[in-house]
Amino acid sequence: MPLYHYECRVCAARQQIVRPVKEHTKTIPCTSCGEQMRQVLGFRYVIPDIEPYQSMVTGERIRGRSHHRQHLKEHGLFEVGNERLPPRRPKPMPSVVDDLKRAFEEVKSR
Ligand SMILES: [Zn+2]
Repeated sequence: MPLYHYECRVCAARQQIVRPVKEHTKTIPCTSCGEQMRQVLGFRYVIPDIEPYQSMVTGERIRGRSHHRQHLKEHGLFEVGNERLPPRRPKPMPSVVDDLKRAFEEVKSR
């Protein structure tokens, strides 16, 4: 069951409750004043916007995250670490016979 955050409309008391998803919209009474509490987003779910910056490609001012994504897409750019890599394929294993021959040769040469 997920953790939901609630805030009192009157006294601003906050409360976290673990409850089933189907019940998260049901109101709950404030433990301080008894008024209804409303559900609020927990702070850990809020991602702040990025700081504005000047593009190294065009020199234009990038105003926020959505503008940043659009700018990257328009110029075929990507963030380091977010590039698409080809799928890794494991090296094929040598055949058992070839591997034994190599091992015998290695032992003989000592
Ligand atoms: Zn209250």
